[in-house]
Amino acid sequence: MEREEVCWLITTKCNQKCKYCHSFLNIADLTYEENKEILMKLINMGITHITWSGG
Ligand code: SF4
Repeated sequence: MEREEVCWLITTKCNQKCKYCHSFLNIADLTYEENKEILMKLINMGITHITWSGG
């Protein structure tokens, strides 16, 4: 089985404010239900590996 993967930035919230950071955007987080819907879509698309990252 081929490895199908995504990197999912689940939040941009962070309390560190590093000067070099380009992902500190303060975008509102999705709800649990919205994240669950995305997860199910990824699974149905055949995604086999997810790397979650965030602030
Ligand atoms: S996400 Fe990482 S790099 Fe960006 S401000 Fe937070 S700790 Fe720093």
